[in-house]
Amino acid sequence: MSNLDIQKIREDFPILKRQVNGKPLIYLDNGATTQKPKLVIDAIMSYYTDMNSNVHRGVHYLSQISTDAFEVTRRKLQEFINAAHDYEVIITKGTTDSINLVATCYGREFVHAGDEIIVSAMEHHSNIVPWQMLCEERGAILKVIPMNEEGELDMEAYKALLNEKTKLVSVNYVSNALGTINPVREIIQLAHAQGVPVLLDAAQAVQHIKIDVQELDVDFLAFSGHKMYGPTGVGVLYGKEEWLNKIPPYQGGGDMIKDVTFEKTTYNELPFKFEAGTPNIEAGIALNAAIDYINDLGIDNIKAYEDELLAYATEQLSTVEGIRFIGTAKEKSSVISFVVDGTHPYDIGVILDKLGIAVRTGHHCAQPVMDQFHIPGTVRASLAVYNTKEEIDALVAGVKRATAMLV
Ligand code: PMP
Repeated sequence: MSNLDIQKIREDFPILKRQVNGKPLIYLDNGATTQKPKLVIDAIMSYYTDMNSNVHRGVHYLSQISTDAFEVTRRKLQEFINAAHDYEVIITKGTTDSINLVATCYGREFVHAGDEIIVSAMEHHSNIVPWQMLCEERGAILKVIPMNEEGELDMEAYKALLNEKTKLVSVNYVSNALGTINPVREIIQLAHAQGVPVLLDAAQAVQHIKIDVQELDVDFLAFSGHKMYGPTGVGVLYGKEEWLNKIPPYQGGGDMIKDVTFEKTTYNELPFKFEAGTPNIEAGIALNAAIDYINDLGIDNIKAYEDELLAYATEQLSTVEGIRFIGTAKEKSSVISFVVDGTHPYDIGVILDKLGIAVRTGHHCAQPVMDQFHIPGTVRASLAVYNTKEEIDALVAGVKRATAMLV
């Protein structure tokens, strides 16, 4: 049993008190974005009320305090993922931005015609399309690790894909469409045995599972603030110092330079080399509060509670006639995706919405996953630490009601 006081946690999230369509909100779309605790909302307010000014620029007081607050977040992030250095933490717009950074910069330096990049069959579009664009530009080839009917990667096929032409492996830690937890340690070890670096898309993992980048020995790690109780428009690219020094800058502009003349520009040191222009300052500062919030609850406590809730949801939803779970891997986290015979996921989603229950329907930005299962999409309930068994009961009752109406 979990040692978290969920009712107390719910009090921290003002939005959970609101009604939707005349019913209490039941928010089960945390894979799209999580709700924000008051601590985070207050941090955004406080930035604009007390310290609004640009960072890394001014000698004046306000600029110094906003810079300090922004840099505190970087150090908090460093601790959170156990990076060796704070300058290995690049503050980006989010996971998509972080992956595009690596595809562009690593690609520019290391990927040439005939080279291969490996992704998996269960990637979010943001971990497919940047690599496709790179491959097209460079004449490189995108290889895909297949998955089985349970939604687990075929590791033998992965081993067979790795070869001297492989330049990078980029896979998600947890699938946002299926909930599968991938065997990332093994994926990294196998790639490293061939001298190949690995990027982990941790967007669906970092708020549910403790991540230690040094212990994993991962080369790049990407995640988003808004999926971990923080604000939108901010995220992280962790990169090993060695790689960040070897690859060229991303965008050109202010902050990423040391000296600019019309003849030649020299670039700033890490992490600023990759942070051109004014960042999303309030989001960067408020992300600190989100990490504090997770740390206070304890990521292991969060995981234990969410695992318990996921098992309960799976067991209870199994009682729905005609239900078929999409993604039945042995190792799963926080996501339950399903279809019901004779219904369209969208119709179930609309009926649940009328009951105040927010789920996501559709392909979840992972169209190849839906193609493999020959379905247009799924209904996806994705969990956060404030969800309860009572909410799961309401979901199950809602799905039964929708099915009775639709079939
Ligand atoms: N990868 C995964 C696994 C995700 O779940 C998401 C967000 N749903 C993304 C990438 C993209 O994140 P963002 O839109 O915040 O850039």
